[in-house]
Amino acid sequence: MAMGTAVELITIGDELLLGFTIDTNGAFLARELAAVGVSIVRRTSVGDDATAIAGAVREALERTGAAITTGGLGPTSDDMTKPSIAAVFGRGMRRDEAILEALRARWKARGWGGTLPRTNEQQADVPEGASILTNRHGSAPGIWLEDERGWVAMLPGVPREMRGMFTEELLPRVRERAAAGGAATVVLSRTVRTTSIAESALADLITPVASRHTDVSLAYLPHWPGVDLRVTARGDAREAERAVTSAVATLREVAGAHVYGEGNDDLAAVVLDLCRAQGAQVAVAESCTGGLLGGRLTAIPGSSDLFRGGVIAYHNAVKVEALGVAEATLAAHGAVSVETAREMAAGVRARFGCDVGVSITGIAGPGGGSEEKPVGTVCCAVDVRGDVVAHRRQMVGDREEVRQRSTQWALDLLRRGLTGSLSKRPA
Ligand code: ATP
Ligand code: MG
Repeated sequence: MAMGTAVELITIGDELLLGFTIDTNGAFLARELAAVGVSIVRRTSVGDDATAIAGAVREALERTGAAITTGGLGPTSDDMTKPSIAAVFGRGMRRDEAILEALRARWKARGWGGTLPRTNEQQADVPEGASILTNRHGSAPGIWLEDERGWVAMLPGVPREMRGMFTEELLPRVRERAAAGGAATVVLSRTVRTTSIAESALADLITPVASRHTDVSLAYLPHWPGVDLRVTARGDAREAERAVTSAVATLREVAGAHVYGEGNDDLAAVVLDLCRAQGAQVAVAESCTGGLLGGRLTAIPGSSDLFRGGVIAYHNAVKVEALGVAEATLAAHGAVSVETAREMAAGVRARFGCDVGVSITGIAGPGGGSEEKPVGTVCCAVDVRGDVVAHRRQMVGDREEVRQRSTQWALDLLRRGLTGSLSKRPA
């Protein structure tokens, strides 16, 4: 494989080997590098051990000629990445005055008081002949070292710092190398987000049209927010872009109203955008989710324009007193019923003077289920300007999953209610 198109990744830290830290750095770097036509051909994890680090780097240099390390750049005694790798290049360490000044300034700016501890001064030690990768998101600088065998880039372990340094400092260098090495292919992905439809039902819609798009691969990614569909193409950048765009258009067409967004779109943000476009104010009434729905909505910046508030109506007395649910409804149908959900949604909309009310009532488990209403039974209702629709569903998963899925489902009912794609068939 030509140099510049392949890289090895070495993640460093005892915590990784013990399983307390999950290697999200590796996943991030693999995705980002693939997007510019560089692949990670091998991933190695080693502990905080000078011999193990040096061994892994030496092998990677001989085998692939390029390696990125993460972790062990900090100032404490368990951080030994820099001197171990310097030794592989036969270089000593020197103290960099500019880095030291920057560390002192940073210390002062953070208001810790006193002078920079000795321990931190070590962060200004760099291998002879190294290039510095500036850290704008933390204190430990990154290092680039190379000789006739190839190059090694050392990034911090803390994911936020690692990502910043990679994007700002390392990626441009790697791109340059890849271009010089003649790397022409990219890996391009886009994700279409669906919810409230089963993976198999989605496949029934998609399979008949899949033959139109043999130039992309399709992954079904089910998780609690719904089923994400990731389309990936490899090859020439323009060709890949065309293939992915065309496949995404087909997916959107066949999945129709089940699609709520793309990429990292959050359903709560999608719903608030719809509310904003319609000038609609929202209120929520939650039983089994205990505030998760309000939490999802208020997590979105700008929600204060549209979200009025809500009632956590856990006890039946609160459903009656704060929402106006009829005692007779509770007696006849129970707290977890479409009838109660309807009155909760209508009640909160009326009492908060909103255009839209949303409600959730269900049995999250593990206890509280019955034959007629097993654990995971959830009823949601939306009242859009007086038009009330309620549905009942059986959720799978443990307590936390039922609560998360119910919240997502309530948001989806509201999305469908606002876009006129909500089925009104009785649940
Ligand atoms: P510091 O200056 O904070 O010591 P460092 O560059 O020395 O940073 P480490 O000490 O190896 O990095 O790791 C710091 C933290 O970063 C770890 O506690 C862990 O939470 C996280 N981390 C390290 N490696 C990874 C990785 N491969 N994937 C995800 N997180 C990681
Ligand atoms: Mg450390």
